[in-house]
Order: sequence, then C-alpha cells, then structure tokens
Amino acid sequence: MPTASFVLGVDLDGVCADHTFAFRAIVAEELGVDPEDLPLQRSWGFNEWGLGEGDFERLHRIAVLQRRMFRDMPVVAGAPETLWRLSDAGIWIRIITHRLYVNWGHAIAIADTAEWLDRQRLPYRDICFLGAKPEVEADLYIDDAPHNVEALRAHGNQVIAFAQPYNTDVAGPRAESWAEVEEMVMDAAAKATALQQTFPGTDPAIARLDTKRAEATQESTPVIGLPGEDHPKLISD
Ligand SMILES: [Mg+2]
Repeated sequence: MPTASFVLGVDLDGVCADHTFAFRAIVAEELGVDPEDLPLQRSWGFNEWGLGEGDFERLHRIAVLQRRMFRDMPVVAGAPETLWRLSDAGIWIRIITHRLYVNWGHAIAIADTAEWLDRQRLPYRDICFLGAKPEVEADLYIDDAPHNVEALRAHGNQVIAFAQPYNTDVAGPRAESWAEVEEMVMDAAAKATALQQTFPGTDPAIARLDTKRAEATQESTPVIGLPGEDHPKLISD
C-alpha cells in the first residue's frame, strides 16, 4: 500500500550549495592569500587551510553576516534540475540545514537562505533550520557531514552520503553526483510510493518558479496555491 508522500530530506551546504568554494574565496580575501593556497580537498575541520584557534568561527561570521555567503554561494551542478524532477514525480522535498550557528545572525542567515533557494530555483515544500537532524521524519536523507550521516543512520534512517573530500571514510550508499542521487532516490521512493517519473531533459520545470512568481506578484491579492496545481513553494510567497 503506497504511502501519501515520500519525504526527501536535503542538506544544503556541501550538497546543494558549494560551501567550500564560496568560503574559500572569502577566507582568501580576509587573510590576503591566494585562494589556490587553500585546497578544496580539505578535511572537515579545514586543517589544510592553516586556520588558528577561533579563526573558523570569526571568518564564518564575516562570511555570513558581512559577505552574505548564504545568499551568493554557487549551486552544486545538477541540484536544481534534479530536485524539480523529483518534486514533479511526487517526492516531498524537505530542506534541512544547520545554519543558525552564528549568534545574532539568524535573520540574515534565514533570509539569505530563502533568497538563495529562489535565486537558484530549488523547489521545496518545507525547510528546517536545526542542528540535530535525526528528528525531522524524512524517508530518505542526503547529507555530506560525517557526523550527520552517522547520527541519522544510528537512528535507523536511510541516508545517501553526498561525496566530498572530507567524508571519504563514510560508508555507502554514496552519491558522487546529483545524477546518482536522482537514481538512488527514485529507486528508494519507488519501493515506498507510486511515482510518476519525469525523465531528464524532458521538462523545463526549473523555469517554472520565475514564471509563477512573476504571475503571482502581478495579482492584486495574495495567491494561494491549490493542491496539485501550482508548486507548493508558492504557497508561502
Ligand atoms: Mg552539509
């Protein structure tokens, strides 16, 4: 008996957003060094960048609050298109991110995250800002942080480890790209739900957010999406 929705829990940094690349550019400027001197092949603790005690916290605070990294960072290739296809297939996209670790910076972190999701055209039905991820009741998770993957699995959850240099020791299942994520998610969801698969390259769904937002902002009254009609992201616009 298929369940109502298959919920996919999607992490942002290191999965949808290229955190290492964005942070490296800012750190290089702040420290006055060549970005090439800060290897992208880095460990979880940024040991290769030679940061001293307290440097990560200080630089990350600058990156988030002054340089608006969460608004401007590059998207990981394939993430938007894949998430649109998965969403159109009936999968519930739940963004789960631990970004509220800069004290007194929550307004910027939340607003810039929402702005970035719209700019990069990532579809989602709900979003959770929290550090302890095992309690958000997704059917399948994608995460890159070794401690998150292991904690989620320890609680009996299905987790795809999104491959990064700092998680090579994490056991599979692992995805090296969003193409692999799509295949793995569809396989998992097909076992739990009835899906309508949209094949790669056949649906310009990624452009839909721009079109629908433009239409919505031209309305004189707020537009509330109808179930099964407009994408549910628009309900909260
Ligand atoms: Mg992450």
